[in-house]
Amino acid sequence: MKQHYNIPVFIPHLGCPFQCIFCNQNKIASNQGIPTRADLITTIDEHLSTIRTSGDNIELAFFGGSFTAIDRKLQEEYLSIVKPYLKNGQIGSIRISTRPDYIDGEILDFLTSYGVKTIELGVQSFSDEVLKASGRGYSCGDVLKASRLIKNSGIKLGIQLMIGLPGDNHALDMESTRQAITLVPDMVRIYPTLVIAETPLEILFEQNKYLPLSLSNAITTCKEMFLQFQQHDITVIRMGLHPGEELLSPGAIIAGPFHPAFGELVEQEVFKEQSYMLIRKYKEKFKSDSDLTLLVHEKDISKTIGHQKNNLLYLKSHFQTRDIKVKAYPAYERDTVGLAVGIESEPLFTLNRKEFINFRSGEPDLLSLDGNWPFLM
Ligand code: SF4
Repeated sequence: MKQHYNIPVFIPHLGCPFQCIFCNQNKIASNQGIPTRADLITTIDEHLSTIRTSGDNIELAFFGGSFTAIDRKLQEEYLSIVKPYLKNGQIGSIRISTRPDYIDGEILDFLTSYGVKTIELGVQSFSDEVLKASGRGYSCGDVLKASRLIKNSGIKLGIQLMIGLPGDNHALDMESTRQAITLVPDMVRIYPTLVIAETPLEILFEQNKYLPLSLSNAITTCKEMFLQFQQHDITVIRMGLHPGEELLSPGAIIAGPFHPAFGELVEQEVFKEQSYMLIRKYKEKFKSDSDLTLLVHEKDISKTIGHQKNNLLYLKSHFQTRDIKVKAYPAYERDTVGLAVGIESEPLFTLNRKEFINFRSGEPDLLSLDGNWPFLM
């Protein structure tokens, strides 16, 4: 598979007329100011000089703001700078992110004419109550309308969701997931809400009127959402905020389920549960305490082992097994787990992700039967 490259261009939220409860336009965003024409050209040229692939796999991504909410002249200026690179094939496409209430037919025609191929919508929730309590300034109806317009225009649709917003809960997050799936997005991002310094949410938190999700609850909800999207073949391109310099600066995060490798923790939980299901099946059938080996794609080894070997420690202790190892099994695709017994190197059982999701739909939250996971706190 050909490698895909993003040239990220950060458009700060400067001058945004909204006040979403969780957003501090300065803390979370870069404070370098709006990129000038020269900045943009330098960024593009610097990236192109290091990327060794054909232009079709290179995408220029305007991140960080509501692109279609900034002044139209500035949008035109940025897009026209990229145009020659698209024309000569050095760049294949443009991606932007924006708010659902800043999409209509005319805006989509404008973006299409400049080669925009992907729009990520900052949806955050499909619940009107949550959107209102979070100060987003649009409704679920606006989200549905914008998403359908984007799909009909032929532009790829990305949906960004947040969990743990004021008024939100696990059931509403699962409902947002269900609604997002009905829109058949091309990709999804999921962000747990963090209390960032100097935001209205910080004030609510200080007044004990807002309680952020614990890391373990955020992982559990994200895991359920992730599996729902996987079941419907919708790619989750990121879980958890990118731990950029601004976010990591001292005092930027006041509270909330932050972890620099949040998405990795969610996927580790999935591999733990998938491995659990296989070992349980083996134990039920053979009542043996032989040493076991979990077989996975080489890129899934660390997710199967878990942070500080926690998955293996848990599985060993739960199943009273002397030893459990993890090995690469070249014939496997990603997200597949196999189980070999004793000195065997071929799997006795194999469970791919789709089978796992289907089996667990009869018994969701398999691991919650065994309590919480203090090591995730
Ligand atoms: S998150 Fe809300 S307040 Fe922050 S920049 Fe985006 S629209 Fe504006």
